Amino acid sequence: MIEKHKAGIGDILIGDNKDVIVQSMTNTDTGNINSSLDQIVELAEAGCQIVRLTCRTVKEARNLKVIKELLSGKGIETPLVADIHFMPKVAEHAALYADKIRINPGNFVGKRKSKSSFSDEGILSQKNNIKQRLTSLVEICKRNSTSIRIGVNHGSLSERMMFAYGNTAKGMLESALEFIDIFRELKFHDLVISLKASHVPTMTEANRLIHKEFRHRGFAYPLHLGITEAGSGMEARVKSAAGIGSLLAENIGDTIRVSLTEDPVDEIPFAKKLIAKYAKRKILPMPRFTENITDSQELKLNYNNLDKDDLLISASVDFTRLHNIKAYKKLKVFHNGKEQDELAHTILQALGIKYSKAEFVACPSCGRTQFNIIEELKKVKEKTSHLKGLKIAVMGCIVNGIGEMAGADFGYVGAGKGKVNIYRGKLLIAKNINAEDAVDELVRLIRQCGHIQEKEN
Ligand code: SF4
Repeated sequence: MIEKHKAGIGDILIGDNKDVIVQSMTNTDTGNINSSLDQIVELAEAGCQIVRLTCRTVKEARNLKVIKELLSGKGIETPLVADIHFMPKVAEHAALYADKIRINPGNFVGKRKSKSSFSDEGILSQKNNIKQRLTSLVEICKRNSTSIRIGVNHGSLSERMMFAYGNTAKGMLESALEFIDIFRELKFHDLVISLKASHVPTMTEANRLIHKEFRHRGFAYPLHLGITEAGSGMEARVKSAAGIGSLLAENIGDTIRVSLTEDPVDEIPFAKKLIAKYAKRKILPMPRFTENITDSQELKLNYNNLDKDDLLISASVDFTRLHNIKAYKKLKVFHNGKEQDELAHTILQALGIKYSKAEFVACPSCGRTQFNIIEELKKVKEKTSHLKGLKIAVMGCIVNGIGEMAGADFGYVGAGKGKVNIYRGKLLIAKNINAEDAVDELVRLIRQCGHIQEKEN
């Protein structure tokens, strides 16, 4: 018998094995109460059930209280989540006002100070340090009925986890388990766990691992699913459908976010479609399609009379599920008898099977972003999509963006108001470029590094 925990977030209960909850995040400055309020209202009206806001300072933490009151005055009780990085003190303030706080185990504790920190004594002392910091947070959360999301990101595992497990799904699992164990010792169970990655197979593997680990240990906490830095347009939707949809079809996941580098409101209808189709709270039967008779690595998916999103979602999830079992390497998708080349190529690329265009990693942006990332990503894609095999990260801020570039060849990262830094790998190669000139500069630097000729040939 599994000890199954639920997390109360305002009036919403996550993990009750009934509904899967839709979440999103504002991309406004939490310091700007009015713009944040307007966006939360839009999200709530679109059907978003929980909204997260970045929370960088104690002042922003206090703004949550004001925003909650203003929302309540409009008859909107959508629970708010404070997104915390690096600042345990801010987490403690946010826990007074938010319904949930999200902490990232990769950056909740400080960086290692020396190699000796990886000795047994060093690791024990770091664990004690984490426990001490979480103890005071837990006291506040218990008093205020605030829940906590342990939000592990593949791109920001702690150096300690990287040292022990590498940049792997196992490292993500262990990072979450370390915090879960501490919270359990502190008798705090209002937890939601997320293991997110921009690489779809890593995200699905990590979530299957924790699902299995829960059964092995005899307890379970609700899981929040999402693909990070998925980017925009068809690529982002295919990645999210493949990752989130295939897990929901296995009855894994209690809440989801489809991250898009677009207006956050656009995330909601797509997330709802995924839930309507796959969140049936039982393991769905495997879909049946035909293999190519002469090439058993090729799968043919035939559909009729679906709208654009339904076709994209069905093909992405069906292929992902069947690929997991039979390791198909080739795909053809037909809709009403017509071949859908671009969709098939995008699915194969999302799963890392075959690359047919440049790969983009882009964060959905948040209050830390100080340039128009949605427009900039569009421009970067227009100028570089044809560079097959090149991976470009477009990230909203240098605080988290650099760590989460997922091994990109080039990084285009917000560095302050209207400014962009450009990276080759993790090496800074151009600093504080005006945002309006930065895409041209990126293209110039890609060319200078020989990538454009190499890739265009
Ligand atoms: S990388 Fe993007 S989403 Fe993450 S904190 Fe920075 S701006 Fe926000």
